[in-house]
Amino acid sequence: MDETSLNKSEIIKVTFPDGSVREYPKGVTIFDVAKSIGPRLAKATVAGRISDHLVDLDYPIDGDVSLILVTEDSEDGFEIYRHTAAHIMAQAVKRLKPDVKLAIGPAIEDGFYYDFDIEEGLSSSDLTDIEAEMANIINEDLPIERVEMTKDDAIKFFEDMGEDYKVELINGFLDKNVSFYRQGEFIDLCRGPHLQSTKRLKAFKLLNVAGAYWRGDSKRPMLQRIYGTAFPKKAELDAYLNMLEEAAKRDHRVIGRSLDLFSIQEEGPGFPFFHPRGMVIRNELEAFWRAEHIKEGYQEIKTPIILNRGLWENSGHWEKYRENMYFTVIDEEDYAIKPMNCPGAILLYKRKLHSYRELPIRIGELGLVHRHELSGTLHGLMRVRCFTQDDAHIFMTPSQIKSEIQKVIDLVDRFYNIFGFEYHVELSTRPENAIGSYEVWEQATTALKEAVEEKGMDYIINEGDGAFYGPKLDFHLKDCIGRTWQCGTIQLDFIMPERFDLSYIGDDGEKHRPVMIHRVIFGSIERFVAILTEHFAGAFPLWLAPVQARIIPVSAVNADYAKDVERRLANAGIRVESDLRNEKLGYKVREAQLEKVPYMLVVGDKEAESDEVSIRGRAKGDLGRVTVEQFIENALEEIQQKAVITC
Ligand SMILES: [Zn+2]
Ligand SMILES: [Zn+2]
Repeated sequence: MDETSLNKSEIIKVTFPDGSVREYPKGVTIFDVAKSIGPRLAKATVAGRISDHLVDLDYPIDGDVSLILVTEDSEDGFEIYRHTAAHIMAQAVKRLKPDVKLAIGPAIEDGFYYDFDIEEGLSSSDLTDIEAEMANIINEDLPIERVEMTKDDAIKFFEDMGEDYKVELINGFLDKNVSFYRQGEFIDLCRGPHLQSTKRLKAFKLLNVAGAYWRGDSKRPMLQRIYGTAFPKKAELDAYLNMLEEAAKRDHRVIGRSLDLFSIQEEGPGFPFFHPRGMVIRNELEAFWRAEHIKEGYQEIKTPIILNRGLWENSGHWEKYRENMYFTVIDEEDYAIKPMNCPGAILLYKRKLHSYRELPIRIGELGLVHRHELSGTLHGLMRVRCFTQDDAHIFMTPSQIKSEIQKVIDLVDRFYNIFGFEYHVELSTRPENAIGSYEVWEQATTALKEAVEEKGMDYIINEGDGAFYGPKLDFHLKDCIGRTWQCGTIQLDFIMPERFDLSYIGDDGEKHRPVMIHRVIFGSIERFVAILTEHFAGAFPLWLAPVQARIIPVSAVNADYAKDVERRLANAGIRVESDLRNEKLGYKVREAQLEKVPYMLVVGDKEAESDEVSIRGRAKGDLGRVTVEQFIENALEEIQQKAVITC
């Protein structure tokens, strides 16, 4: 072989996400590729993604590939960064407590954890020592290297170290070889990739310790889980820690208790009780929902909670969703408690023949659904086992798809603006367990894309995250401390109409198949109440406030006047209470303030003489004196506008 032909065979092509192609010698590393593009990119790159695999920076590329350079501020990059932090934490714990056995330590959203089996247990007071040791490991600038072993060698290796959990994990692997990552004296079973050296971890913080069963199984040992977080920049870590502090203050479970909005009783884990005050918020949200939907041409229905198994087999839920469903038996037949409202709405559509002239048919339902969630994942009203979806199903002709989707988008926009939420849109495509052909999915996905693009909205694509029956647009709203919550969804569905043999008579007199939209705006009313509670920190806008005004007489002699004002406000439709207890004025004001009552109306002799009230706002304090009539007028105006005055 002469030199030129050798060179030729040693050249590989690397294709980048923008479609550009560059040539490199065979065996070029990810890092070298990044460096060839620019030194800043090289500095920020932590790994590469080749097809579906993440690889280390020193991975040699030995053929033509499509490559994504993973930078530390990308989703993959964050995961690698935080996973490396988990290894460094495990190394620190091992140094401090050599008898500890290691379980697993993945990166999670916003951070990482590692599970340890340790006889004497761990407490949050240990975290400071562990953090200090982590800082040492970072300073030692230990290179992090990948090592491979055969499965048998790996089992022997960990058996010798007494790492029983690792042995159990490796026994479950199918591959012949097992990879490890080594940094200094520490070595851990790991797929990788990792940062190149411990020194690349810049800002981290350990957050708390909690018990966790090995493999989530309550029959297996209870381990100690340390949670932490890490960011490429100190400022980002500080901002995140501030946000956590803010979030703890706004925790809807705490506010829900102090404002007496809702509770979860021992007798019903995941099944919330709404108290009278929480019910006011809920009813206001539902009333608003109804009014807006009537304007948009929706009809409202209510379908049963329990329906026959056959229906769920037909809808695909039996096959795809059974693990999350509850069941019951009636007259020796199987029934399911609905996890979704769609099949009920479909039965209603099918009760009669429809003409194309009736379409689109928009059917709304505030439907109570039950879904089984693992007890460890339940969280106040955020994650429950029964909730009310503000659901609607739209049946339409294919030519109506785009305009209907756009109408729903407009409605979602109007809803979120009312609460002062900013939001972004994500498009989720075909998941692995999808039903229906690729063509149908393609068609549905394109329709959603075109609808958003024509609205001039930006969106993010989530590959493989759609529902099993169709692609979807998700709306993620941002609360006032910067957290995002997925609430609204619009799902396009060509498959249910097929499965249920839905039809309409077209202008040609023939039967045609309608297309369906499934959509929610609040998502779950329960969860939306939780989000609003945290967003407003319990200081709900006037239209939602359980008590809108509290009348506080200066002394007992003003009680009659207080009752008179109360009656007039109540007659005007304002939710009002009088505090006639024999307590000091200041005490009563402070209490109303803590309960986040928007307006406190203080009434004494002066006010009684002039038919006035002295207003104190919960946020702004003294708002001066106005006549009772004037207060009523202003309050009604604020309620009617659904004004959001403070965040
Ligand atoms: Zn690892
Ligand atoms: Zn549905």
